[in-house]
Amino acid sequence: MPFDPASWFTEAIDETGTAFSLKLKRKLHEEQTPFQKIEIFETETFGRLMVIDGCTMVSGRDNFLYHEMMSHPALFTHPAPRRVLIIGGGDCGTLREVLRHPEVERAQQVDIDERVTRLSEQYFPELCEANGDPRAELHFADGIEWVDKAAAGSLDVIIVDSTDPVGPGEVLFSETFYRHCRRALGEDGILVQQSESPLLHRELLQDMYRRMRAAGFAQQATLHFPQPIYPSGWWSATLAGNRDLRCFREQDAAQKSFACRYYNADIHRGALAVPEFLKDL
Ligand code: SAM
Repeated sequence: MPFDPASWFTEAIDETGTAFSLKLKRKLHEEQTPFQKIEIFETETFGRLMVIDGCTMVSGRDNFLYHEMMSHPALFTHPAPRRVLIIGGGDCGTLREVLRHPEVERAQQVDIDERVTRLSEQYFPELCEANGDPRAELHFADGIEWVDKAAAGSLDVIIVDSTDPVGPGEVLFSETFYRHCRRALGEDGILVQQSESPLLHRELLQDMYRRMRAAGFAQQATLHFPQPIYPSGWWSATLAGNRDLRCFREQDAAQKSFACRYYNADIHRGALAVPEFLKDL
């Protein structure tokens, strides 16, 4: 069958000279919100796909890799994560994973665009199944303003599940934002942020490490994991804190009371292993 571009979604990125495509069944929705353009597709092999400003965000088939790795390593690194803030995360998949931890008492989610959540409720209901949990709070605001107003020491873990460092997501990679996060977290507090592709975005990782350190986070550690729909298919999340981030509650992780499809204590330990080309970060 000759390649028919009309029946494929393609994210082509000039800066990296890479592209990723998924064969489509149909387009389900498209809208321009005050913040970004959101598209929803039904694909042939990856379930539903959400795209924001032309960038893949979440697919039904592989989102578990990302949502589990954005939440469980940070939560099992903190000694007692009770108060969690998610910045971004509008599809609610990360919120669902956070709420699997029984010791979490409050999970606030702050996404700038309410339409992401409302469309996720409609097209990705499986990601929103914990939204009714009494511990969950959904807020719609700019994440940098939210953490600027947060009381000092009022949070245990901040998860930044944002879009790429362009458009509304750009401020979430700034030293100012990290300073606000440092102040809002207690001494044991952990920040974790999606940190793009270790292969394609090494310079961004270096910038993040530098800005996090300048903002008062003495330690950083990057977790890497597969994420097929994101550029290069190899993604990362970077932890920041003032404790040894390579130590985590291994026994609690091994004996966790909930099932995962990717995360376990071995995966956590392996994700922290530093490839030779990243050792000088
Ligand atoms: N997993 C995706 C990735 O790595 O690109 C991110 C998923 S989630 C849909 C990204 C969310 O970040 C979007 O819902 C977007 O509205 C939100 N966002 C972007 N900038 C933001 C900001 N300044 N404050 C709060 N949320 C923001």
